[in-house]
Amino acid sequence: MTPEEKLQRKKDSSKKYRETHKNKIKEYNKLPTTINNRQNNRNKLKKQAYEIISNYHNSEIKCWRCGESLIEALTIGHINNDGKQDRLVHGTGETFFRKIISGIRSCENLKIECFNCNCCLENYGKYPDEITEEEFLL
Ligand SMILES: [Zn+2]
Repeated sequence: MTPEEKLQRKKDSSKKYRETHKNKIKEYNKLPTTINNRQNNRNKLKKQAYEIISNYHNSEIKCWRCGESLIEALTIGHINNDGKQDRLVHGTGETFFRKIISGIRSCENLKIECFNCNCCLENYGKYPDEITEEEFLL
């Protein structure tokens, strides 16, 4: 099975689950975050994974570009701009975090950055502080 087929199978399976467990999901989403264990576990995994990535670059858990440190605003950037391929191979979210924590996925080509910096690089090929007002208006 190719990575693309695996991803599609996972998407189909998730969609089917969401359709057949609508009420369960609705109830789950009403839970306050303090007892929303899945979210707490995800955040713990995220923090652990970010600590490992930051060690590779000798920095704190913050955006390497602008310094944003709110963990909810941070994401993982791919230094070689190969995020799409990487997601197909190593998955996303908790799966990706677990692979980083267990050492299956090495972190040399990863960096911590904020969503702003990550999205601007994706859409404009530059970081926010490099983009002129004229470029934003295009
Ligand atoms: Zn940033």
